Amino acid sequence: MGRLGETLREARKQKGWSLAQVEGAIRIRQQYLAALEKEHFQEFASEGQIRGFLRTYALYLGLDPEEILECYDEEPRKVSRRPSIPRPRSLSPWSMMNVLILVSIIVIVGIMGLYVASRQVASPPLPTPTPTEVPPARTIPRYVLQVSLDYEGRSLEVSERLDFVNLTDDTLEELVFNVFPNHKEDVFLLKSVTLGEGGGEEEEVPELEYALSGTGLRVHLPTSLEPGDELTLVLEFSLDLPRMSPYGQWGDGTLGYSDRALAVGNWYPALVPYREGQGWYAFAYHAIGDPYVTEVADHEVEIVAPSGVTVVGSGDEERIGNRWRYTISEARSFAFTASDQYLSASEPAGHITVSSYYFAAHEPAGVDALMAAAEALTTFEELFGPYPYSTYRVAEVDFAGGMEFSALCFLGDDWYGDHPGGYRSGMVSLLAHEVSHQWWYGVVGNDQVGEPWLDEAMATYSSMLYYERRHPEFVEWWWETEVNKYRPLGQIDRPIYAFMDGRTYLNAVYRRGALFISDIRDRMGDEAFFAFLRDYYESGGKQLSTAEDFFAILYRHSEVDISSLLEEYFGA
Ligand SMILES: [Zn+2]
Repeated sequence: MGRLGETLREARKQKGWSLAQVEGAIRIRQQYLAALEKEHFQEFASEGQIRGFLRTYALYLGLDPEEILECYDEEPRKVSRRPSIPRPRSLSPWSMMNVLILVSIIVIVGIMGLYVASRQVASPPLPTPTPTEVPPARTIPRYVLQVSLDYEGRSLEVSERLDFVNLTDDTLEELVFNVFPNHKEDVFLLKSVTLGEGGGEEEEVPELEYALSGTGLRVHLPTSLEPGDELTLVLEFSLDLPRMSPYGQWGDGTLGYSDRALAVGNWYPALVPYREGQGWYAFAYHAIGDPYVTEVADHEVEIVAPSGVTVVGSGDEERIGNRWRYTISEARSFAFTASDQYLSASEPAGHITVSSYYFAAHEPAGVDALMAAAEALTTFEELFGPYPYSTYRVAEVDFAGGMEFSALCFLGDDWYGDHPGGYRSGMVSLLAHEVSHQWWYGVVGNDQVGEPWLDEAMATYSSMLYYERRHPEFVEWWWETEVNKYRPLGQIDRPIYAFMDGRTYLNAVYRRGALFISDIRDRMGDEAFFAFLRDYYESGGKQLSTAEDFFAILYRHSEVDISSLLEEYFGA
């Protein structure tokens, strides 16, 4: 790293900003910011792009852009970039002379470049960028999951490949995963962790050291991973699904089997978030709430299932015989269910294909679930912003709750059984809640363990917004059955570990959470409130938002004083 890169990096560090934060603010991808700091100029498509990015980044950091560009011009180049030659339209003798001079300079620079290159014998050949194509460098993790499903045996053999780029500013010695299935005994069996080369060469690869304790898996890397470095890990494991409790909620309903379906959610080792300056965010399992927090990642999944079994997963689906292939980009999770008894129905909602999978006894409710999901998706797109995927699936599962995954939701069978038809229905209200999680947690992520109110209060209130927009005659019923009849109490901004039973958790975080959002809306007025929601969705997209972000964005739209509300709802 030379003086230029150091200046940028130092200035950023002084402000305490991560690359991700800068990306969010100035819309330059992290890998380009890192390339500027490392002076890896070969990663850019053109001189213009480098100068433009340098100028923007310098301004944002409070540096003088002219000085930075001067510094850039003075810096000796480690890599020769292909200079772009301006093509003169007509040549006067004078401009002809200029062209000749320019050409000779280019030739000389080219020869010097060759000379420099020939001295760097040990370094690998550098890719020659062309101005027309910028290779979209991978910035987020990619999971490639290969699953062999034994439906009768209720077990899975899985090969998980993770492609990972160190986008942090720190040198990493280990990767840390959350292994949700391991909160129970005899469910998860890790067979090996190796470095994968991805080249297909069948060489013996040494196993890596790891420590699996509870739901935490720490994989020790054989060599330190510097910022910007990439690696591929391969984890081989099997899952022996436990029997699901029909009364189970949250985690109890996301992974297990019943007599007519398998629910496979939160099932593979998933990287925990990395926090600049603090390291990996290793959180513990808890039976109440959602003990999982992930950054967005790309997922490619192939599930080989016996014939006669229907698989319902997240994202774009391609089925070839018994192979069910799914791809979903920038998603927080991939989950699926499987059943030999599912019926299904589909319906378009704008650009989204919505599908519902249900058991024969609940067919009318299954069709109503489809209609409600389609309506809720359209409503939230209007209110908050675009849904990022082209599919959404709802699958009936034998548990007592609802659980959101990217582009997918598990919905407990009792809700179908109790569904009276129409929209004045707990099933419809819960489904609207789950659908809105695609916006709140799916796109605008949050720490579901430490600040669960951020997504749960928003999802609960969003269910009310769905009724307000589509079925206003049931708004009063909604407040009465979802909130008021419980006379909810409790401080809303507490971590899941503060709650020992579901009722207390729901009352504080969901129900009082919805009251809090409703009170904020009353204070702000509708115009500012809905502008805030759209801004929060757009600004917080694909990141993990905090309460601080929530209020910072809120204050962009209103100067109203909400301190008494904070006292009322957040007060200790
Ligand atoms: Zn929820």
